[in-house]
Amino acid sequence: MGVIEKGVVMRPGYIDGKTKLLLIDGRWVPAASGKTFETRDPATGMLLAEVAEGDREDIDLAVAAARRAFNGPWSKWKPADRQLLLLRLADLIEANIEELAALDTYDMGAPISRTRAGRHRVVGMLRYYAGQAVSLHGETIENSLPGDIFSYTLKEPVGVVGAIIPWNSPLTASIWKIGPALATGCTVVLKPSEVAPLTPLRLGELCLEAGVPPGVINIVPGYGATAGAALAAHLDVDKVAFTGSDVTGRRIVQASAGNLKRLSLELGGKSPDIVFADADLDAAVPGAAMAVFANSGQICSAGTRLFVEQKIYDEFTAKVADFAKALKVGIGADPETQVGPLVSGDQLDRVTGYLDVGREQGAQCLSGGERLTGGAYENGYFVAPTVFGGVRDDMRIAQEEIFGPVISAIPFTDIDEVIERGNATTFGLGSGVWTRDVGKAHKLAKSIRAGSVWINCYQAMDPAVPFGGYKMSGYGRESGKQHLDEYLNVKAVWIKTG
Ligand code: NAD
Repeated sequence: MGVIEKGVVMRPGYIDGKTKLLLIDGRWVPAASGKTFETRDPATGMLLAEVAEGDREDIDLAVAAARRAFNGPWSKWKPADRQLLLLRLADLIEANIEELAALDTYDMGAPISRTRAGRHRVVGMLRYYAGQAVSLHGETIENSLPGDIFSYTLKEPVGVVGAIIPWNSPLTASIWKIGPALATGCTVVLKPSEVAPLTPLRLGELCLEAGVPPGVINIVPGYGATAGAALAAHLDVDKVAFTGSDVTGRRIVQASAGNLKRLSLELGGKSPDIVFADADLDAAVPGAAMAVFANSGQICSAGTRLFVEQKIYDEFTAKVADFAKALKVGIGADPETQVGPLVSGDQLDRVTGYLDVGREQGAQCLSGGERLTGGAYENGYFVAPTVFGGVRDDMRIAQEEIFGPVISAIPFTDIDEVIERGNATTFGLGSGVWTRDVGKAHKLAKSIRAGSVWINCYQAMDPAVPFGGYKMSGYGRESGKQHLDEYLNVKAVWIKTG
């Protein structure tokens, strides 16, 4: 495994062989059951840590702590105090970003170049929420009732938030839940994915260092069917902020019915990325390829249905396949790596299963199409960046979320046709359009039923710009002002003054 020995980012000292505990009420505690689970490096199979396995009893304790904090001194914190707290946390994350990036890389496999680049996003988000914390306000609303009666609104924190996140970007996903909660005065029980719990736990240490009061942020790793389900159903949780698959999303909706919780759902996608013949193809080739291959395709908004105008279809798909073949696949800790491993054996089975399905249903494999084995790949879950050509809309690889490095390239001939076919999916998260024609770009921007439309780029994100889904990609928005509204109640106040 020579490549692992030279030029790799060292494992953070946080991965020190000690069991990682749960953060409940400002203290690090073992699971009530005493159970732990393992977390491993998907590039090498190496054991990284044992982690306390939270379950219902731990969730109960964490929710009780979050409730006490919500009703207690935290509710007296002024917006400016919360702003300062968020800024301190942002500074601490910035100071520790190398370690946090390396933890994400070791725990879930993403290339270190990618996890390092997340710095702007996570630090920027916390600073953005810090600004929003002092900008929250209700409205005075003139009403038409007879007499002197005055009306205004107050914005109030929704309460205890159960935050359930996936493994594909643990640091970003954690900040996307913790940031708005701190800005609005909510409290949180965060349930990280059992597949990648280390960065959220280290983030918990930084929260305490920043001065987050006991009980305001609690972190309870554990399995979805146990800890996650307990949190989603808990009658003293006011809101669940969930990011994950549509299958789990439906379970969350059902589990939340007991006390009709507020919900925000960031779910999966099968996003269309549409390339017209008039596009700048030198930009569109890497743009369309990395719209999928970044993070090994483990991105909810990946542009996996690549619609290419018929007259450039062969030339363009060949170029994307060549681009895919030239990508450096390797362990995430190697700074040269462009595509890391998949996160787990389960994910490997899922993706290779779809490679078989694609071939069986008649798609042509233009690049990749297989698991990589031998040498530095031997103990990891590596799949070669894959481009399937000749894909029809009815093939499963054109319909179902694969969550791996697989592009399904589909030909089209005209704009109205591609709008209809692009929208023919149960999802609606991301979408891309590559064209030099501003008229086409506008038409697509209006017609695509998805939460984001990227024109001549893909996956641009900013803390001030809302992100979220249409249709079965979920509801609610993260980032932007709308994000804070997800964590706020609006109260109407009436005062008779006459
Ligand atoms: P997942 O749905 O399997 O798990 C997500 C989280 O839910 C994990 O913490 C898991 O433990 C928990 N969970 C599982 N079953 C549960 C249950 N019954 N009750 C409560 N919690 C439960 O998803 P995943 O495999 O971790 O992540 C991949 C999925 O996430 C993909 O579908 C991807 O598109 C989606 N995703 C969406 C976004 C977005 O912003 N829209 C971002 C990242 C990932």
